[in-house]
Amino acid sequence: MAITADAREVIGEATLGELEGTLRGQLVRPSDPDYDQARAVWNAAHARRPALVIRCAGTADVVRAVEFARSEGLQMAIRGGAHSIAGFSTSDGGVVIDTSPMKGIRVDPVSRRAVAQPGLTWSEFDHETQAFGLAVTGGLVSSTGIAGFTLGGGLGWLLRRHGLTCDNLLSADVVTADGQLVTASEHEHADLFWALRGGGGNFGVVTSLEYRLHPVGPVVFAGPVFYPGAAAVEVLRGWRDLTATMPDEFTTLANILVAPPVPFLPEAAHGQPVVGIIGVYSGSVEDGTKAAQPLRTLAEPLADLMGPMPYTGMQSLLDPLWTAGAQNYFTGALLDRLTDETLDTLLAQHAAGHALVRELHLHHCGGAMARVPTGATAFAHRDTAFVLNIIARSPDPAGFDAHAEWARATHRAMDPWSTGGYVNFTSEPGADKVQASYPPDTYARLVAVKDRYDPTNQFHLNQNIRPSDGG
Ligand SMILES: Cc1cc2nc3c(=O)[nH]c(=O)nc-3n(C[C@H](O)[C@H](O)[C@H](O)COP(=O)(O)OP(=O)(O)OC[C@H]3O[C@@H](n4cnc5c(N)ncnc54)[C@H](O)[C@@H]3O)c2cc1C
Repeated sequence: MAITADAREVIGEATLGELEGTLRGQLVRPSDPDYDQARAVWNAAHARRPALVIRCAGTADVVRAVEFARSEGLQMAIRGGAHSIAGFSTSDGGVVIDTSPMKGIRVDPVSRRAVAQPGLTWSEFDHETQAFGLAVTGGLVSSTGIAGFTLGGGLGWLLRRHGLTCDNLLSADVVTADGQLVTASEHEHADLFWALRGGGGNFGVVTSLEYRLHPVGPVVFAGPVFYPGAAAVEVLRGWRDLTATMPDEFTTLANILVAPPVPFLPEAAHGQPVVGIIGVYSGSVEDGTKAAQPLRTLAEPLADLMGPMPYTGMQSLLDPLWTAGAQNYFTGALLDRLTDETLDTLLAQHAAGHALVRELHLHHCGGAMARVPTGATAFAHRDTAFVLNIIARSPDPAGFDAHAEWARATHRAMDPWSTGGYVNFTSEPGADKVQASYPPDTYARLVAVKDRYDPTNQFHLNQNIRPSDGG
């Protein structure tokens, strides 16, 4: 049951006081001065009013929060970095189990491992690991949280060299729906460990994540090169052709976008369609310089910003364009190939849109991501050649519905080439969307794990795997 008013009206101040007394972290009620800050999530399209936000200081608070929400019959939203596109980390009238204060991390440079708490963002995680020249595949925008990102799969600049983020997860501590703490790894709760790597936040609240790290940087050859819209066809086809022989060290992305009013792009291009090719070469700067050369000469660039830069600089390069507080709609599709017709369709769809921020990202996959066997993790679409992320963004709600509809129409236009979806890039909940993100046998296996760890579907604010009895 979800409640809709101030929690005190429904639960009673005595019960809330009792809860508060058992927490090391903070209980935030709607009447508290920092309630608006506590309820805010990255995507302002989901401005909801939870009954309570429990800012957890540690695992004990998480256990208490799960027990409390369960005993009071309150809907639970789990929050890490609050970047859920679909708004899953908040709710109207429920309890937000906010792990964002949990920012501990221990990096072992010798064994190349990190044990991290779920409140860390990629910026914070990279700061700690790059002190030792180490990294794991992380987000393209550094304010994104490590937890939701990893549990959904995790596409980033190191995916062709080191796999998805979830491919580098070695173990996780999880508070399950009955308030028990379990450690999942290849050796214990192996079914849960499999499900956590792509199955999202369906199985419990993760309180610790152990990662394998890799030597990266600290300086890499990276950055974007922008081409005018008039050259879009030759640039996109040229990039697509080059991906066929690209070394695993090089992970790139093509972006069809409207040029933002940024000083590094000529003023005449502002507000016009352009194509950006952006990438990171995670080997030596010298090799990266050579490998990137063909990408910088696909046509006459508007701006070429590729060059040596700190890996952490690249990780935060896009942050200013993706700040919190706007309305956002993302929808993603997995593509097994990019034909000329696919690219032409994407360009036509982009031209038909009206949002000033509308972007079509084509993430090049393969490499280490493709070498993981299909059944090894819940993220199973290992033969995906490109992941498309369709993005519509607007500073205010007026007109946003039409922009979201444009994104959905663009997704439909991709039907001939789409082989599935990616849960982290899906704005809408819905059984069809979730099932489309997994091959049928993977989905059936996820249901079996859900039956074992959350048979009554306490954790349903996510791309929901419904237990067999429907939850
Ligand atoms: C600006 C931006 C850039 C992005 N870039 C990328 C990208 O480069 N690559 C990519 O793959 N994805 C990307 N994403 C998508 C991103 O991976 C998802 O939105 C992800 O869920 C964000 O994780 P979070 O912890 O910040 O989110 P939250 O909103 O805090 O959580 C989202 C969901 O994750 C689950 N979850 C979070 N924390 C926990 C926990 N401790 N235990 C159990 N479940 C938990 C819950 O189901 C929750 O509803 C991006 C999103 C945004 C908004």
